[in-house]
Amino acid sequence: MIIPQIPPPFPLAWGFSTKLDDSADLPPVRLSQVHGCRIVGASDVLQEGDGIWTMQPGLRIGVRVADCVPILLAGLVEKKPWIAALHAGWRGAAAGIFRKSLEVFRARGGDLSSLVWALGPCIQPCHFEVGEEVIMAARQNSAWHEGLVSFSPSGKPHLDLQGLLRAQGLSLGLAPTNEGSVPLCTVCEKELLWSYRRGDRSERQWGWIEID
Ligand SMILES: [Zn+2]
Repeated sequence: MIIPQIPPPFPLAWGFSTKLDDSADLPPVRLSQVHGCRIVGASDVLQEGDGIWTMQPGLRIGVRVADCVPILLAGLVEKKPWIAALHAGWRGAAAGIFRKSLEVFRARGGDLSSLVWALGPCIQPCHFEVGEEVIMAARQNSAWHEGLVSFSPSGKPHLDLQGLLRAQGLSLGLAPTNEGSVPLCTVCEKELLWSYRRGDRSERQWGWIEID
């Protein structure tokens, strides 16, 4: 397990699983992930969505990823713990999944500036070569800045997806001092992490969280 680089705001278990973790510790599958931006309250039935939240202690929730960014959120809603896990690829990031999750938190009475947040291991700019259409889509976002794209020697664009999500979170009102992101690259870390881009077609790691 890779643990977010920040103390949790209340007792909880959380982290980003690796190839080395026991699958018995992972959450049950509660989401059918579709690279969209629907956020659902956790339940025992399988729901379509790319974000899940709960306020129920002992309920382990999470998302499965293999290059996309897993995002974990933990904050207080009227003094009670609220947690969420999001799956954000470039489509979800462009469609506003991060913003939508923060709207759910705020609608219930959460204070954004107190929310602890962590972006997990994902494909980093060293390996995330994308088409121009991806950069065009990302540029539509108000949080975009040109530092989020770099170019290979052959001129192909590389997107900093984790950086884009960080820029979104900060522009939406999250505090930089509440960030516990992990800057690992799923493609680089062959021994530790699954990567769709590198050829892993079915295996996934989890970003998961549970209120103690
Ligand atoms: Zn890499």
